[in-house]
Amino acid sequence: MENTREQQISTLLSQESAFRTRQAIEAIYSPFFRSWDDVTSLSKPMRERLAGAVSWNTLTMTTALPSVTGDAWKALFETNDGNRIESVLMRNSRGQLTVCVSTQVGCAMNCAFCATGKMGLVRNLSQDEIVDQVRALHDLTVDANVPGEITNIVFMGMGEPMANYEEVRGALQVFTGPMGIGTTRITVSTAGLLSGLERLLTDPLWPPVRIAISLHAADEATRKRLMPTTAPGFIDDLVAWSRKYAVAFPEKRRHLTLEYLLLSGVNDSESDTWKLVDLARRIDRVRVNLIPYNATDSGFSGSSEDAVRRCKDKLEAAGITATIRKSQGGDIAAACGQLAGRGN
Ligand code: SF4
Repeated sequence: MENTREQQISTLLSQESAFRTRQAIEAIYSPFFRSWDDVTSLSKPMRERLAGAVSWNTLTMTTALPSVTGDAWKALFETNDGNRIESVLMRNSRGQLTVCVSTQVGCAMNCAFCATGKMGLVRNLSQDEIVDQVRALHDLTVDANVPGEITNIVFMGMGEPMANYEEVRGALQVFTGPMGIGTTRITVSTAGLLSGLERLLTDPLWPPVRIAISLHAADEATRKRLMPTTAPGFIDDLVAWSRKYAVAFPEKRRHLTLEYLLLSGVNDSESDTWKLVDLARRIDRVRVNLIPYNATDSGFSGSSEDAVRRCKDKLEAAGITATIRKSQGGDIAAACGQLAGRGN
């Protein structure tokens, strides 16, 4: 793990007062500054020392592509070592802004429906690189006159967050700490890497953000076809983990979300839906998000609106809260499963 910017600042200013160090750290996460030069509450020599040793940004935004509907922007970033990642800014009908962040360059999970999975894993992103996606998109909202504040963050971009546990945890600490975003407004979505899920149950440093499981099939054979990393016994292991999660995070608001991408002829039959109902009934405080599929070159096609609606109705008739997630940014390849670092 490389040093975070906070560690670099603390080392550089080790001879200064704790107040000055805190001031410098808070300046990085302030929405009002764009460079060390702007932080005029610090002396000029100190600003110059900081600028020489601590990068204000770890990413360069090379493209910001708005969707035709005006409710999503896809940002393509270049990292300092020349890799490309993508993030998405979305505005909902209430004018609230959400950023979907990436946690890795590429992804090793190789899900059959996902453009990122085709890239393979290149490397993990650092805590600063995850945080800087949100900082850069905040600046975009100012420069492009996008009304509203960024109030929500979802870890649903490129990469599997649980495979980059420490850096994701560090970014969560920044979001919920100096950046002031509430824990119920952040969702970490995972393909179900149980090692990471088990770890967070007893990790005092893990902020209690919401967790979403990318399920996509409630039987193991279908799930294995869609998500090849599905381990034998995954469904039962997930249920057992969810019981421990309910004990570790007993607040009512800490429900679990099951994400379910509806694919025509793959996981949208009546019997698939009943399997989903059966599984959801075994999990405490669960919600199901039904996700319309966005075209990639995977060969799958999305379920019809009727099929999506039927699935939702069955879940609700069984007493399970289900939402059809509105897809945003499909025309700019910014929707779920479409991010591939290509910027188009
Ligand atoms: S869906 Fe998520 S976990 Fe699966 S390959 Fe894509 S980025 Fe990775």
